[in-house]
Amino acid sequence: MPPARAALYGATAVALATTGYSLAVRPVPFGWAACALFGYIALRLAGVLVLRLRMYADTVVRGPRGARGVALTFDDGPHPVWTLRVLELLANHRAVATFFVTGHKVEAYPHVLRAILDAGHGVGLHSYAHDRLFALRSERRVRQDLERGVAAIERVAGERPTFFRPPIGHTNPTIARVADEMDLVVVGWSVAGLDGLASARPAAVASRVRRGLSDGAIVLLHDAPERGDREPAAIRALPEILEAVHARRLETVPLDRLVEAAGVQPSRSAKP
Ligand SMILES: [Zn+2]
Repeated sequence: MPPARAALYGATAVALATTGYSLAVRPVPFGWAACALFGYIALRLAGVLVLRLRMYADTVVRGPRGARGVALTFDDGPHPVWTLRVLELLANHRAVATFFVTGHKVEAYPHVLRAILDAGHGVGLHSYAHDRLFALRSERRVRQDLERGVAAIERVAGERPTFFRPPIGHTNPTIARVADEMDLVVVGWSVAGLDGLASARPAAVASRVRRGLSDGAIVLLHDAPERGDREPAAIRALPEILEAVHARRLETVPLDRLVEAAGVQPSRSAKP
């Protein structure tokens, strides 16, 4: 069990026991209770914001020890210009990647998704609408969004995606449960290029990713801006990243390879 999830279960048990003690025996001092409540809320919030803590879902954030290869992943596409440029760069380096696409862009640019698939790359779901407040939405709304996103991919690809990366990486028990029921494996990353920011510089993105390159790494980059048409910094950083992969005698592998090696299957998320 991930340590953060064990901490959540432990903290929940202590909170329930303390509440019971306060009601049945004698109230704990107010200062203590306030501190404990604040700590509990902070713990749960960290679980929502930091996907790699794996507090709510069995998120794959890197391949297991002994896994070979680096999985490059691109979020927020497809985009009619930048995704095609990424495909060209990957082809030049004989590299493979996985694209976490948003359903509404798949509907707008189905030919770009087809190009991704035709080039032999993987596809995962990055929600339909890329709602920044996804972690605050009701279960009904989360389910509707994910089902719409899955359907958009299925219409073009002919099959349902297996992987899901939540918008801006936020998870909670609702998102974990719905993803689980839809047989989607939640995937995070071990290396973030931080290339999606408007201020990101390609050289800084490349050196950040280079530092994290090792067997089993899952690299997060963007083949499109979240909104609009700005060129993501990853486009100019990618040649240097691909050269670094080659220079270190690493190889790019499909995400499936690392997920299979990690032994994570759908239907195993936590249900706190
Ligand atoms: Zn995104």
